[in-house]
Amino acid sequence: VSGLKKHFPVKNEIGQKSAVVKAVDDVSFKLYEGKTLGLVGESGCGKSTTGRTILRLTEPTSGSALFKGKDIFQLKGDELRKARQDLQMVFQDPFSSLNPRKRIGEILEEPLVIHKLGTKAERTEKVMEILYKVGLNVDHYYRYPHEFSGGQRQRIVLARALILNPKIIVCDEPVSALDVSTQAQIVNLLRDLQEDLKLTYLFIAHDISVVRHISDQIGVMYLGNIVEYTDTDNIFAEPLHPYTQALLSAVPHPNPTMKRERIILKGEIPSPLNPPSGCVFHPRCPMATDICKQAVPVNKEARPGHFVRCHLY
Ligand code: SF4
Ligand code: MG
Repeated sequence: VSGLKKHFPVKNEIGQKSAVVKAVDDVSFKLYEGKTLGLVGESGCGKSTTGRTILRLTEPTSGSALFKGKDIFQLKGDELRKARQDLQMVFQDPFSSLNPRKRIGEILEEPLVIHKLGTKAERTEKVMEILYKVGLNVDHYYRYPHEFSGGQRQRIVLARALILNPKIIVCDEPVSALDVSTQAQIVNLLRDLQEDLKLTYLFIAHDISVVRHISDQIGVMYLGNIVEYTDTDNIFAEPLHPYTQALLSAVPHPNPTMKRERIILKGEIPSPLNPPSGCVFHPRCPMATDICKQAVPVNKEARPGHFVRCHLY
């Protein structure tokens, strides 16, 4: 994905176009087959919008996303329908994303019907196979969503995403609504499925400790930009961006004798309608200097394979 932008025009009370919200502003990253990129940041930073544009659930303003040699953003008609089988999404709230009036078997079969795949018998067989893969069983086929716990519903949502044999799954806060032990089960399931099916994930979360155990690389987002991007180990060993340092300071260190000093950020995320000048993080940054108010920092490779947008580097 390169140079992805999603800008929304905003109208004032009398309906005139008065401003532009830069929800995603010049985001670039790579997804590697069978690997996971974790995208972290506070709500409103543009991470969900980034995921949705890749699946064409929302149209990007500009940029490109190469997949199998083609730009996803340019696909139309049949080509787009075909690509959509490869690109699936798992949403945060498994309670609202399953139709309460349909049985699980019907919910899981639906994508196959829409894409006109297989005979009735073949589709049923495929549904059974996927139920097993996500840790459910044949008994669940005739049940309704309300008969399941949150963790089980997330398994069903995952099964629905898997039914078309996708290559890439955008997981948007897939465990945020679950309790901690269920979170761990679902994350482990996602990892097993990844290994088994060579899946590629874009894993979106507001909590950096959640993405740690599943991500090969991490991108930290702030107000529409990726401000730091590198291998997961690098991020935790040597976070470079002051915002990443603040996020990590809230995470308990694995070695209890090595205490991180908690960095408390001043203020709230500014409104994307009226972003600060220069580095958009400057009003909250403990390291800000005069240049930060004036000049927008560019993306730099500060260490090999470790990218950061900050004047300190
Ligand atoms: Fe802080 Fe300046 Fe770096 Fe922005 S550019 S993160 S304000 S030090
Ligand atoms: Mg979101």
